[in-house]
Amino acid sequence: MRLVILGGPGSGKGTQGKQLCNKLGIPWISTGDIFRAAIAQNSELGVKSAPYVERGELVPDAIAIELIRERLVQPDTANGWLLDGYPRTAFQAEELDFLLDDLRGRLNWAIWLDVPEPVLIDRSLGRSRSDDRLDIIRRRIELFHERTIPMMDYYEPREKLLRINGNQPPEAVQQDILAAL
Ligand code: AMP
Repeated sequence: MRLVILGGPGSGKGTQGKQLCNKLGIPWISTGDIFRAAIAQNSELGVKSAPYVERGELVPDAIAIELIRERLVQPDTANGWLLDGYPRTAFQAEELDFLLDDLRGRLNWAIWLDVPEPVLIDRSLGRSRSDDRLDIIRRRIELFHERTIPMMDYYEPREKLLRINGNQPPEAVQQDILAAL
């Protein structure tokens, strides 16, 4: 199964995505986590992405796309994967489809965890990541509206979009996702 999970900061993508991966036996691939790990290691990718991640800006498409291109040819992806936080822009969504054409696969579903904005802010403030400061959270939510929500117009007409109410207890969200799949 090849899945992407989408939602604003604090929408529960990580929690829900990891649980789903355990159930389905597929790897959880979080671009945000990969960037954060690279920054912690001060690797070349970390140095390139840090100025964006630390301000809540999107890392340039070319860097994100290259990262995913390299990740999706690793042997653990043979039975599928779940991408958490990728794609974030319509351009990335299109690029993912091109990549999947090359790899002779296709995406099964794009899961959208829909959560009202005040809840996104509250949940993000409850975490302790360095990019969870109020001004940075607001910027990430703004970018989610500007860049990521329009991407739903890419998946919807392709009948790939599963819109899930993410403003419920985690178990209920997981049940709704499993029922929809
Ligand atoms: P996340 O953990 O998904 O909220 O991502 C944390 C940060 O990593 C974001 O605020 C962006 O700076 C960066 N990031 C993660 N995924 C992407 C992506 N697909 N495109 C651009 N930037 C990304």
